[in-house]
Amino acid sequence: MSRQIETPPAEAVDYQEPFDADKVPPLSFSTGNLFQQCPHQYYRLKVAKDVKDDFSHPAALWGKRVHKALEDFLLGVTKELPDEFKQFSHYAHRLKQMEGDRFVERKMAVDASLKPVDFFDNRRARYRAIVDYLVIKGDTAYQIDHKTGKVKPSDQLAMSALPIFAKYPRVQQVKGALYWLKHDTYTKYEYKREEAPAMESKLFRPVITAVRNAAETGYWPRQPSALCAYCPVKDCEYHR
Ligand code: SF4
Repeated sequence: MSRQIETPPAEAVDYQEPFDADKVPPLSFSTGNLFQQCPHQYYRLKVAKDVKDDFSHPAALWGKRVHKALEDFLLGVTKELPDEFKQFSHYAHRLKQMEGDRFVERKMAVDASLKPVDFFDNRRARYRAIVDYLVIKGDTAYQIDHKTGKVKPSDQLAMSALPIFAKYPRVQQVKGALYWLKHDTYTKYEYKREEAPAMESKLFRPVITAVRNAAETGYWPRQPSALCAYCPVKDCEYHR
């Protein structure tokens, strides 16, 4: 989440004030990326809500199916992965064998002061995350996310570490791994409790502040890129 967005200067906004949830929904890692990719696309999908993304392209459908298969297996709904995903059995079994309090698709959120709030509390929540697989053991949380794309560095797990620290006061460190399914490889991260405020202010507050500034000024510029081909805003002049 390092790309800079050009926004016009706006009045300083009080970050601690409750946001108008209709204008600035809580930030997740994916919606932050969406805003940074193209503020206009973000506006149409998340604020105006006059466009929906049905995620119907083949890569998205495959991603949905494999997440559901892993979710069902980890919850004990199924005893094995379907044949289509047998190649991920070793990974799924390794996850299931982890010791500790285990959670699948764990939904969590924090407010502007990094206190835990209900995931669905759109007014107070600033950041929210759904962790694919979370294990709490002693003073350590392990969070694992199944990734379907190309291997790349990401601050995704830093964002989800914020509500983990908030929700579990005994957790002093979060060890995270992105598992890149198609490459059978992990990218690992580790965060300490005392690092959380700095992570928030450095990595994510600039993004949510830029979203709020856009909402205050009504300036949601189009930002054309190669991704316009997959954009659900079909009436945009850059859509191809
Ligand atoms: S087509 Fe491109 S420029 Fe237009 S809204 Fe979509 S991503 Fe933005």
